[in-house]
Amino acid sequence: MPLVMLCPACDLAHRCTAAPAFVRTRCVRCHKPLQVARDATIDTAIALAACASVLMFLANVYPLVAMHVNGASRQTTLIGAALGLYDQHYKMLAVLVFLTIFVAPLLHVVTLLYVLVPMWIGRSAYGQNFVIRLITRVRPWSFTEVFLLGSVVALVRLAKFAHVVPGIALWSCVLLMLCLSAMTSRTSSEQLWQWAGRGPP
Ligand SMILES: [Zn+2]
Repeated sequence: MPLVMLCPACDLAHRCTAAPAFVRTRCVRCHKPLQVARDATIDTAIALAACASVLMFLANVYPLVAMHVNGASRQTTLIGAALGLYDQHYKMLAVLVFLTIFVAPLLHVVTLLYVLVPMWIGRSAYGQNFVIRLITRVRPWSFTEVFLLGSVVALVRLAKFAHVVPGIALWSCVLLMLCLSAMTSRTSSEQLWQWAGRGPP
């Protein structure tokens, strides 16, 4: 039985066998793109995921920023920023920050590597289908870019009152944001199912 693809704009069902998966196709009714040509390879996705894991390590180990004001110096890490919010009684916000800047990106990268590396050598990871579904759920919760944008705005404003020195973690976060974007664009759920060798069950 042929697989069916729904148009994201008008929900018209199309048979997936109508065109090869690597060809750009449009909906016959509303002409919105149904699928775009994909040039992603597992090698690229694994390289980006490995790069993201190294950047994530650097972003969490080294100081995010150091501030010097009136002779006193203070520095904090990414996790320290979330703990700071917790200490100031913004507990829900602290949990949200921790989940979206640490747990979700880490889970995204680890689960991707978990399914991609076995695929690369022609095998299937244990629980592959479950993990691919998990990746689809986890992906929208990664907000590194939002955190980074907020941090940069805060640091620019703080620079009027204190000497602010961006740390290695901040630069790592910038690179991590770019790396995660590139990784996410190359590992859509459709692409993962295609690499897994079949459509979503
Ligand atoms: Zn349509």
